[in-house]
Amino acid sequence: MGRCDLTLKGIEDLSLAYGLNHYVIDKPLRDVLKVYLGSEPDLRTLGELAGRELYEIAYRVDRLSGPVLITWSVRGDRVDSVWLDPAERLILEKLIWDIGVNRYPFNGGSWHEHYASLNIIGDPGVSCILTITIQTAYTLEKYAFEPVRSYYRSLSGLLKPTMFGATWFTEIQGGSDLGANATVARESNGLWRLNGYKYFASGAGLADVALVTARTPGSPPGAKGLSLFAVPRVRRDGSLNFYVRRLKAKSGTIAVPTGEVELVDSEGYLVGEAGKGIYYALESLMVSRLANSHGALGIARKAYLEAALYTAHRRAFGRRLVEHRLVRRDLLEAESLIEAGLVLAHEATEIFQRSSRDTPPYTPAYHYARLLTHIAKNVTAEIALRVTATSMELLGGLGFLTEYPVERWHREALITPIWEGTSNIQALDMLEVMAKKGAHKTLVEEMRGRAKETMNVDTSRKALTAIETTIEQMLVKQPEVVEYEAKDLLRKLGYAISAILLENVATRLWEKRYHMIAEIILEREFLGRPIPLLNDGDFVDVVSLGGQINI
Ligand SMILES: Cc1cc2nc3c(=O)[nH]c(=O)nc-3n(C[C@H](O)[C@H](O)[C@H](O)COP(=O)(O)OP(=O)(O)OC[C@H]3O[C@@H](n4cnc5c(N)ncnc54)[C@H](O)[C@@H]3O)c2cc1C
Repeated sequence: MGRCDLTLKGIEDLSLAYGLNHYVIDKPLRDVLKVYLGSEPDLRTLGELAGRELYEIAYRVDRLSGPVLITWSVRGDRVDSVWLDPAERLILEKLIWDIGVNRYPFNGGSWHEHYASLNIIGDPGVSCILTITIQTAYTLEKYAFEPVRSYYRSLSGLLKPTMFGATWFTEIQGGSDLGANATVARESNGLWRLNGYKYFASGAGLADVALVTARTPGSPPGAKGLSLFAVPRVRRDGSLNFYVRRLKAKSGTIAVPTGEVELVDSEGYLVGEAGKGIYYALESLMVSRLANSHGALGIARKAYLEAALYTAHRRAFGRRLVEHRLVRRDLLEAESLIEAGLVLAHEATEIFQRSSRDTPPYTPAYHYARLLTHIAKNVTAEIALRVTATSMELLGGLGFLTEYPVERWHREALITPIWEGTSNIQALDMLEVMAKKGAHKTLVEEMRGRAKETMNVDTSRKALTAIETTIEQMLVKQPEVVEYEAKDLLRKLGYAISAILLENVATRLWEKRYHMIAEIILEREFLGRPIPLLNDGDFVDVVSLGGQINI
């Protein structure tokens, strides 16, 4: 009789990426962090968790165990709270307390480490809970008045009790068009009360406090008339402050409850100055757009791992898949895209970090951070879609089956171009920050400096010329043509910037693989040419993540 192994097993029979340390194997991520931080941070504990318990819990929550809305308690009280799978609750506690994912920017660490952690986590539902919390912490720390600021300091993950935040801007009549917000806030006896309906509210039933946009009496129409409020889940007398009408049924991001919230005379605390809410909202959106960028790459990386490892053992036509030329091309393209996104997202993070103390009306550094963030958000979302789709295909029929992880990663990737502002909105906002704030001038100056710092002058020079020409051409076009072409412009700039930044990494670390990837990105994504054919050694170096996985 064969031995039946019933020891406690994980999902190793379903997933090839399960059991790996998702930080240690990710040499490109470690290298990019080395470049931006001066030395490699130790994220190994998170990498271990991400490759085992977290991978498995996120998989289970997606399939079997999403959040449940509890409307009435057994005691007969209206509670509108969300019950998370106990395993998800435990992993959140672990991420917040043991690992300290959200602490970095508040205790002398950097946003790079925070965002790299989201990349390693990969699951966008879990990451969303962490992101809406850190967005709220960042905004309240920067703009809230005392005692609200001190009261919610636990959102940073530095103090107990564990608190969660949320950002509720979208209403039924418009998410992209925040100026259409109709929620109103009225002050009476020093207390603001809000009435309105928030149509997409992630963290509903979970968050202790939400940032909410609303219109104060006499404010002008449009986005400039918005103010921002901190709205707690419970009132000062302990009763429920708003209702959660329902949780949305979603095709991904299951781990985060997303609901519809009804504000009925809900108590709120004004954040910063009345009428400046759109600035604060956009700043908090910068935090989540960067999170989306790094998270999208995490999704792409998980799918890539499943696919690359699959091609290393599956055979067709007498050879392993990875030995077929076209499979090689697919893997090279996928890996190059991930690494292009990585440098772009970390560069945007770097500039955001430098300008994170800026307040309205802001310095050119802040506008440049916005420009890069719009670009990074869109380009990385595209990368997540492309890489997860290719990964599904590389698993053949198995890729389409819901029982294996790669199908979920593609489903999860689909949200990345939608929330935090759709691709069209990122492209339009990119144009706005160029037209009104001249952010493209900073971009050209910065990239000229960066191109000079690279050894391989040829690729950098080509990429720099590409950026300069693209912008020059844009400046002489009719505004309606520029708007029509905005997404193409964003994409072109994004990949050309990535090529220069990859050459920078190659120069700083003296590593040829980043130079090869820079060339691939420029040739393929900017010039639309075929991916250069690499010799066996170079190919394996790129697709095995510098020898970290067995290909
Ligand atoms: C899972 C999930 C969670 C979410 N969580 C939150 C949350 O916690 N808080 C929150 O505030 N929101 C949240 N959202 C809402 C999300 O941010 C919005 O759905 C998104 O910004 C798009 O807004 P919309 O749905 O109103 O689409 P619309 O604004 O109606 O857009 C529809 C389409 O029209 C396009 N479009 C709109 N205007 C223009 C234009 N001027 N030019 C060109 N194209 C245009 C858009 O690109 C899009 O393709 C969540 C959404 C989802 C799916």
